[in-house]
Amino acid sequence: MRDRKIFHDEFRPLPYWWEKAPPLKREAPPPAEVDVAVVGGGYAGLSAALQLARCGARVAVLEAEDFGSGASSRNAGLVSGGNYLGKGLKGLSAEEAAALLREASGALDLIEDIISAEHIECHYERTGRVVAAAVPAHHAAQEKTLDRLNRLADAQATMLPRERQREEIASDAYSGGMIVNRTGKLHPALYLHGLLAAAEKAGASLHSGTKAQAIEGSRGRFGLRTTRGTVRAREVVIATNGYTGMLTPALRRRVIPVASYLIATEPLPEDLAASLLPAGRTLTDSRRVLRFARMSPDGRRMLFGGRARFTPHAPEEAAPVLHRFMSAIFPQLGGYRITHAWCGNVAFTFDFLPHAGVQDGLHYCLGCNGSGVSMMTMLGRNVANRILGAESAGAFERSSFPTRPLYRGDPKLLLPFVGGAYKFGDWLDRIRAR
Ligand SMILES: Cc1cc2nc3c(=O)[nH]c(=O)nc-3n(C[C@H](O)[C@H](O)[C@H](O)COP(=O)(O)OP(=O)(O)OC[C@H]3O[C@@H](n4cnc5c(N)ncnc54)[C@H](O)[C@@H]3O)c2cc1C
Repeated sequence: MRDRKIFHDEFRPLPYWWEKAPPLKREAPPPAEVDVAVVGGGYAGLSAALQLARCGARVAVLEAEDFGSGASSRNAGLVSGGNYLGKGLKGLSAEEAAALLREASGALDLIEDIISAEHIECHYERTGRVVAAAVPAHHAAQEKTLDRLNRLADAQATMLPRERQREEIASDAYSGGMIVNRTGKLHPALYLHGLLAAAEKAGASLHSGTKAQAIEGSRGRFGLRTTRGTVRAREVVIATNGYTGMLTPALRRRVIPVASYLIATEPLPEDLAASLLPAGRTLTDSRRVLRFARMSPDGRRMLFGGRARFTPHAPEEAAPVLHRFMSAIFPQLGGYRITHAWCGNVAFTFDFLPHAGVQDGLHYCLGCNGSGVSMMTMLGRNVANRILGAESAGAFERSSFPTRPLYRGDPKLLLPFVGGAYKFGDWLDRIRAR
């Protein structure tokens, strides 16, 4: 382990969130027959199951590990309100971009409705987010997108000039930024627990340690071979996002699993903790190699994340990189140790957009592109509605879900190249800004 001094004596290479809400087992064997089998027990799968069960369908969620083992209880809990489609909108017509932004914006309403209707205690707050500009040129670019975000995504965003940056971030590392007010934060693992309880209460049956290994048959009469027996289902939902494997080779070719990392500091002195993000907002920035930060729900720790590496590494290896990133932005944290470090997979897509639809008779919702707390909740619900008779799974059901020739779903060769290009782009921006 390098940089041993940054690790607290009680360091654990596990999500901080699991201290309060560890992954859950549901050990009953899956039923032999259901209306809908959902593969993957994260936000997308559970949200689909909740909606289907509420409407009377017999639904079983098959989860390979314990519930909450995937990204849905590993993330930072920043809840978006439609403001992040960024690169995904390039090249689209104004109408298409508007439809996607509008729908993504609705994801925030939906997650707030679910949390309130199901009484989910997950420290949800609509706090707003600072999107800090890494260089002055990014601040200027943000200014140009402000009107569209507010008009089409109801982002309720305002510009943050550099002179007022210290009101939001105890750092001089940025060139101002944008405050996106219509966003929130929550405890991601408690939200997962709440969604799971709601799906269960509605009548969905949940099965951990049940990996779907093969899908036979076709729509109306699928047979899913799992590690715990075969489940027959009229419809199947694939909600495996960054963990999509050989079960669905055609979908695997369309998503790029990318590792994302987080660390939690030890509890900080109260004054220091209160000063870091004084308005209580979350923080992301405009770099290509993204950083993000927030305070823990008790306000005492900083949780800091980013793409410390683009490929899977032990959290202990990525932690020193994140600690360095964090200390560059908040030098006052340089001497504080970390108690937790962890990682999880997000799923990028070749067009940088999330997708929902049907492939080979299988319903899917995949491709959070790093931001899926509200989005994957919504896409799960939309896919369920399609099964229940809606015309489509909404604006994210698109005519094409692109892949690339020769790409089979293993990004080992792709990611070092992309990661290098992103780092080079960030470096070039800094040089130009001097
Ligand atoms: C470190 C990190 C930080 C993040 N921060 C944020 C954030 O702040 N805000 C935000 O909006 N998003 C964030 N995200 C992204 C967000 O967590 C994801 O978009 C979201 O959780 C995806 O939900 P999901 O249900 O689609 O997939 P997951 O939660 O990943 O669930 C997929 C599940 O499928 C299961 N599975 C796979 N194959 C099979 C099979 N064959 N049979 C049965 N089960 C299978 C897996 O075990 C897994 O549990 C972050 C992600 C990470 C990793």
